[in-house]
Amino acid sequence: MTGAVLYPWLEKSWAQLVRSPDTLSHALLLTGAPGIGKRCIAEYLAQYLLCEMHGKRGTPCGQCDGCRWYLSGNHPDFRLLAPDEQSESEGDESKTRRKTPPIKVEAIRELAEFVNLTAHRRGAKVVLLDPAESMNANAANAFLKMLEEPPAGVTFILVSHHWRRLLPTVRSRCRVFPISTPDPRVASQWLGEQGVVNPVLHLAHTGGAPLAALDDANAEWLPQRTLFLDHIANPAGMNVLSVAAELEKAKLDTELVVDWLQKWVHDLIGVGLAGRIRYYPDRRDDLVRLQPRAVNLLGYIDRLRDSRRLANHPLNQRLVFESLLFAYLEALHGKAHGVKNG
Ligand SMILES: [Zn+2]
Repeated sequence: MTGAVLYPWLEKSWAQLVRSPDTLSHALLLTGAPGIGKRCIAEYLAQYLLCEMHGKRGTPCGQCDGCRWYLSGNHPDFRLLAPDEQSESEGDESKTRRKTPPIKVEAIRELAEFVNLTAHRRGAKVVLLDPAESMNANAANAFLKMLEEPPAGVTFILVSHHWRRLLPTVRSRCRVFPISTPDPRVASQWLGEQGVVNPVLHLAHTGGAPLAALDDANAEWLPQRTLFLDHIANPAGMNVLSVAAELEKAKLDTELVVDWLQKWVHDLIGVGLAGRIRYYPDRRDDLVRLQPRAVNLLGYIDRLRDSRRLANHPLNQRLVFESLLFAYLEALHGKAHGVKNG
């Protein structure tokens, strides 16, 4: 993604962003669910700020030296801190690839040198941090100092999926701009254009986030998810040890599997409360069948949330899956014990 084009569902957000008088406030925090294009709009804004010709059009021109430098990835007045990409280029093992390494204080110190230098071109300097919550405590404190004494002409663009994890003092110094989940019709149409056969279903699986839905449609692990959902849809016949071993063998991210399970439990609870299925409409029959046993799942939701926080720890992955699945069965059986089985 070079920032040359905005995804169609972002145009409305862009118009709001560029129209508002404090767009050029020195620190902007873009928030919203993963996979809705926050990074795209952040890059578009970076190019816009560095564009030397944008005038009244409200878009970067794509032609001037500033735009060309930016699009070639070599603009001297632009810095990107995105630890995810660094780790991928370092060729990590597949199991660790999705983990986000922290942004460390050294990187922020280097940044301080950059922001205090005179700009190479027309004066604007832009720093993009994605995801901003990946700053560790020392880095966040060093960054806070920069925000407290903002260097002239520098705009910080922070992208965050989990903005609550940001240091509150950092958050409060930014202008927060939430990017909302897109109109499903616009998102479906775009996914169709990308060759996705069942856009509505993949959007459901990802809570309406089009870029995540595109990944979902093309994921190598689709057969594993189907198999996993078959297992948890049939708790009576599930062999926890073999399912956990299966998951480990597939070299899936712990966080990914926890995500499938979280969505499943969310739907089980939702179908009981309001007949509402958000993530797995294709599994309605299973969900409705299991729903009467789902009354004890609220505590399990907390458990899943905690395990998600632990997902980057070097724990034995198989043990994590085993304990989550045993707890799932226990939660489902809670009611069954109190009920006479016919
Ligand atoms: Zn330009």
